Amino acid sequence: MDGERILTISRRFNKPDDTFGGVVLISFKTSYFEALYQQFDLGPQGLINLVNSDGVVLLSSRLNNEVAQNGDQCKSDATRTTWQASSVSAKDRHRNLIIAASAPVPPYDLCLVVGLDGDEALSTMPLLITMGAVGGGLIVMLLLGAALWLDRKLIETLGNEIKLIEESRTDALTLVANRRAFDNHLAAMLQAAPLVPTMGSILLIDVDHFKGFNDRYGHQEGDECLRRVAHELSSIVHRPEDLVARYGGEEFAILLPGCGLAVACRMAQEAVSRIKALGIEHAGSSHGVVTISIGVAATAIPGSYSSAALIRDADRALYCAKREGRNCFREHS
Ligand code: GH3
Ligand code: MG
Ligand code: MG
Repeated sequence: MDGERILTISRRFNKPDDTFGGVVLISFKTSYFEALYQQFDLGPQGLINLVNSDGVVLLSSRLNNEVAQNGDQCKSDATRTTWQASSVSAKDRHRNLIIAASAPVPPYDLCLVVGLDGDEALSTMPLLITMGAVGGGLIVMLLLGAALWLDRKLIETLGNEIKLIEESRTDALTLVANRRAFDNHLAAMLQAAPLVPTMGSILLIDVDHFKGFNDRYGHQEGDECLRRVAHELSSIVHRPEDLVARYGGEEFAILLPGCGLAVACRMAQEAVSRIKALGIEHAGSSHGVVTISIGVAATAIPGSYSSAALIRDADRALYCAKREGRNCFREHS
């Protein structure tokens, strides 16, 4: 904004599950480094360059002298520690430059290169100049290291915050959304004001005869059954706006923003079939395996329906499914 040149480094950071979480940008004012570079006497032709893995010079102590330009190539073996290079800049190609020090800058594909003119270095106290260059390089590296350490801390902090947010909305047993996340999502679905009026649907899902399952196979097996049911339900929804949640106990819910009754009923039938097909043994059920019952309800959006009213409708439909034999879905009409 103030017209000052900046050097920007970007870093991807991941969520705890390794999916894309965003990009962190760090900007350095180049004037800071330029002032720093000037403190080191590398001779008239000496330079300090920050180069990327392609050898492109990002920041040079001689940018102001218009010797190194953006796009100049550092042809030396810049990513490794090396002591000799034929050229450091496109305009220096004819000259004999010695790389006094170079070091990679992890975790970025960057490298800091300190260079001296070969003739100068040999004619005027080469040892002293070389030591100065190495010392200068080390100080710049330390400063860059501090900036990169801050960058890592920032990424770590962001990662931790994302993890905490994820945990606060996840059911610890089944790893689907918890009741709080469900309540928020349902409220958002009903409050949404789409440009084109649409529908929103809910599936209220209850595991059949689950008390009998616990009594027969034990609470631990019951927990494992709930995990498998949740996992299977999650594999049915594909859109990011859909939500599978544990509503409470052995009850789950699926929210389908933008979907009407027909789509919701198709999904309900698929859920009923898929849970039965898991084939989790349940000797106390007439089906011999774990099954679910589902109540489906839908409403217009925007509309005047409340969360409580939509859940009440779905609950009534679920009650019908239970009464009419379980292992099926019913829609509210
Ligand atoms: P219905 O087909 O009518 O739904 O019968 P049901 O036995 O499934 O319903 P009921 O409400 O009588 O029993 C629900 C059972 O779910 C009782 C409770 O112990 C069990 N349950 C609730 N939460 C959990 C849990 O987190 N883990 C386990 N293992 N069981 C749970
Ligand atoms: Mg129940
Ligand atoms: Mg039940």
